Amino acid sequence: MNKQLLDIKNFDMESVIAMINTVSGCLDEFLFVREIQTNRVYLSPNATMRFAVDEYDFIDRDNYFENHLIYEEDRKLVSSMLYSALVEDANIDFFCRWNGRDGSPVWVHSIAYVIKDDEGIPKYFFGSTNEIGQKRIADDISGLKGERLLIDEYEKLVAQGKRGRIIRFGIDHFKEINENHGIDYGDMVIRNTAQCIKKAVTGLEEVYRISGDEFVILDFNDDDFAHSVKIYERATFEVNDFIISNNYDSFYTISAGIVDIKNRTNVSYDAVMRRAEFALNEAKRRGRNQYYEFNPEDYDTFKKSRQILNELRRSVAEGYDGFDAFFQPIVDHDTNKLVGAEALMRYKDMEGKYIPPVVFIPLLEESGLIIPAGRWIVSRAVEMCQKMQELIPGFYIGINISYVQIRKSNVLDLLINIKNKSGLPDGSLVIEITESGEIECDESFIDFCTKLRDNGILLALDDFGTGYSNFHYLNRLRPNTMKIDRTFTVGAINSEYEMELLKSMSDMAHSIGLKTVIEGIETDAELEKISMVSPDYIQGYYFGKPMPVPEFMTFVSEYV
Ligand code: C2E
Ligand code: CA
Ligand code: CA
Repeated sequence: MNKQLLDIKNFDMESVIAMINTVSGCLDEFLFVREIQTNRVYLSPNATMRFAVDEYDFIDRDNYFENHLIYEEDRKLVSSMLYSALVEDANIDFFCRWNGRDGSPVWVHSIAYVIKDDEGIPKYFFGSTNEIGQKRIADDISGLKGERLLIDEYEKLVAQGKRGRIIRFGIDHFKEINENHGIDYGDMVIRNTAQCIKKAVTGLEEVYRISGDEFVILDFNDDDFAHSVKIYERATFEVNDFIISNNYDSFYTISAGIVDIKNRTNVSYDAVMRRAEFALNEAKRRGRNQYYEFNPEDYDTFKKSRQILNELRRSVAEGYDGFDAFFQPIVDHDTNKLVGAEALMRYKDMEGKYIPPVVFIPLLEESGLIIPAGRWIVSRAVEMCQKMQELIPGFYIGINISYVQIRKSNVLDLLINIKNKSGLPDGSLVIEITESGEIECDESFIDFCTKLRDNGILLALDDFGTGYSNFHYLNRLRPNTMKIDRTFTVGAINSEYEMELLKSMSDMAHSIGLKTVIEGIETDAELEKISMVSPDYIQGYYFGKPMPVPEFMTFVSEYV
């Protein structure tokens, strides 16, 4: 509202009120006026619907306006603003919180000034207020400032040459909290976390809420990194304290990423917040309920993996350009005959450089791209199996299937259909599943394994000896084959104790009708030693490395 346009010094209070009633219908703002001599206050009448006041026209006794309307924490600020308007004759323009009708603080932007009469005596205090909660300047759930004010503050500090640390907090598993307990409960958790983080700050640092479940503190007043760690630790302490005082009605944890910009040249807000986002994600990735200090090397690795992921996406979209299926021979231990092969995925980036499977397979898994890529390699494996069975009847192919494929796609139907269409006999396809903490032996997973078997597709438990509750899996999943991982093999070759352990596991596997494959045999000496455990099959560089199809076919023609 412009002071020049609205010269109301000669209006009486009734005319001012009439003017407010006229204009407030076409404004987003709430207007207010105080007649200084009488202390009569008039607000835009619709303010009573949004804010914690029952009246819009009243004589302000006992600081009614301040006590009802202004959020307690901001009353000092508002008083000092009023003081400068009255005594220093300043126009005031500031952000503060008003109490909402429902009890939660509402961020508002107020502009106000004092209007004096011809003798220079203050007559009216006039102003307008608009709600800014929707615009990320501030946030009504937590009562905290929002990202726009964070940017202002950050840029101000940096312009003053100040350096410090950004602490970015996040509520762990917040999505699940919302999904499992509902939005109101989620809001309660946000409000409570905001309070806990505020309590953790001892200095003047503000807490900002920048998105759904994320909060930021600019820790610029203390040079010591430990200061930021202390803030994080105090916040977690407060959260725990809240949980205990609520008799564990709610249970959750918080993580934080801390970025030090002390020695950085590129300190633009966006660049720094990207690092803070990475740091927070890293804290969560490492198990949550912890903080992570930004580390440039980790960030480079992360950025490279994003680049690879983009290339993988492009490749999948462009007909699996860059993907290849390699095959590694599997040999019968007693007869030295070639009995099968494992299909192993390979990926070359645009420059033609091979990316190791330990790098790209997890990226395919986390992005879901393993579903189309897995479908692709199943087709290659089936083609290979058909080709090989013309040369070696009964030849089988091992195909790796990730847990994600089972959980998030209908890989079961895919396998059954492709097997039926191919005309391959039962036992030609062996699905290799790695036991890991991820596998939940629930009904749907057991159902998957049972249906595979019912359709003549076998199951191999991969990487045996590296994972978790091996015996539990054997019992519930009833695989046909146990593949013993190279780390276990190497351990057994070098330690008598581990050799004994491997022998008894292998005996046990045989006693319940499982075939064993020893993985990772590289030398004659290793083969000789491992013979003590009488494995059924051997897979390793000793017989052949994973090879592209043409090379594998040459290998086969020379081997048979
Ligand atoms: P894995 O299923 O355990 O595959 C066997 C790994 O052992 C292969 O690594 C193979 O190259 C390696 N290997 C075989 N013999 C020897 C040996 O004598 N010495 C040594 N040091 N290593 C040997 P690779 O090809 O790098 O694959 C790594 C992992 O990536 C695989 O482990 C598997 O878990 C995953 N993977 C590969 N292809 C696929 C796929 O098509 N789908 C899925 N879901 N995962 C795949
Ligand atoms: Ca495997
Ligand atoms: Ca393996």
